[in-house]
Amino acid sequence: MSNDRFQFVKDAIKDLQDRGVFRKLKVIMDRQGAVCNIDGKRVINLSSNNYLGLTNHPKMVKASIEAIKKYGVGAGAVRTIIGTLKIHEELEKKLAKFKGVEAALVFQSGFCANQGVIGTLLGEGDLAISDELNHASIIDGLRLTKATRTIYKHADMNDLEARLKEGAAQGFKKIMIITDGVFSMDGDVAPLDKIYELAKKYNAITMVDDAHGSGVMGEGKGTVHHFGLSKVWDIQMGTLSKAIGCMGGYIATRKDIRILMEHRARPFLFSTSHPPAVTASCIAAVEVMSSQEGKKLVKKLWENAKYFKEGLNQLGFNTGNSQTPITPVIVGEGALAMKLSDELFRNGVFAQGIAFPTVPRDKARVRTIVTANHTKKDLDIALDKFEKVGKKLGII
Ligand SMILES: *Cc1c(COP(=O)(O)O)cnc(C)c1O
Repeated sequence: MSNDRFQFVKDAIKDLQDRGVFRKLKVIMDRQGAVCNIDGKRVINLSSNNYLGLTNHPKMVKASIEAIKKYGVGAGAVRTIIGTLKIHEELEKKLAKFKGVEAALVFQSGFCANQGVIGTLLGEGDLAISDELNHASIIDGLRLTKATRTIYKHADMNDLEARLKEGAAQGFKKIMIITDGVFSMDGDVAPLDKIYELAKKYNAITMVDDAHGSGVMGEGKGTVHHFGLSKVWDIQMGTLSKAIGCMGGYIATRKDIRILMEHRARPFLFSTSHPPAVTASCIAAVEVMSSQEGKKLVKKLWENAKYFKEGLNQLGFNTGNSQTPITPVIVGEGALAMKLSDELFRNGVFAQGIAFPTVPRDKARVRTIVTANHTKKDLDIALDKFEKVGKKLGII
């Protein structure tokens, strides 16, 4: 045995290097945008979650600066002690209205929102049925509860029903079905309509993680709205960190669930609330989303997504089952995905390579996300580079 107590760290790093998946963090030298300076190079950015370009929206910047002047830079306490500002509640009212639900509760991040809601609603004697491709924050949220967990095959309604049947027979106190709305690595959409029908049949609670659906699906109102289920779906988790352009997560749900979470959700109880600047810019974002401008941005996002996806498909790339602005280019081996990403970067296009354990070992990919801010010319240049590099590496 080595005397070095941290030999295991060195070994783990070496293992990453040996597998060709060791990465240095890429650094933006100016600001998040459709085209930006990454590590000193001007590139077309195809990896951000800034779907609508709101990270730099003048109204949000202005709201944020004004809030700092008016309220200072910090909230000063957790929400349940004395860290609730009037603007925190204003944001929640606006979000609930935007989502067409009774109530909303904001958390520090989407990650915290998942931890908060799952831990509040599930405990010993309950069953959680979770899609196999659900986000890490759901997996961790479930690990923190004493609920029994079972995983259904990705978007497979027969498998989901089999597990519901089994759960019902075993006499769990309650059963919750949890799914991503838009799956973050594949860009496919969960069949919420079918999930809702099954939930009704087995009297299960429905929860969706709509981090990649908020601001994108259903005219920006999310995947539940897209399926026309706003009045009947139990719990929608959303993020303010992606399309909304800033930071935070929320639960859009019934009034009584909100009240219970106020008392029980651990990140809400034990971690300080958002600084005023964050909250004020989120309020401005919801206002933009609710306006004609917001509708236009969502429309442009989808036009760009369709154009780019069709372009990649015409070139012969495998884009899996993507139905949204998240379009993976699946190449197989982790090392090949990293090589594709590196070569693209050299050619002025940034698209992050993603390998195991984030995706299955044989499904490594470069993931692309176009935004409303990309011009057609940006997309044409990017497609051109994909063709050049894809041929060079023998992918197409
Ligand atoms: C990004 C993401 C989260 C976490 O949201 P943050 O606001 O960034 O913490 C949760 N779920 C899914 C599916 C995500 O993609």
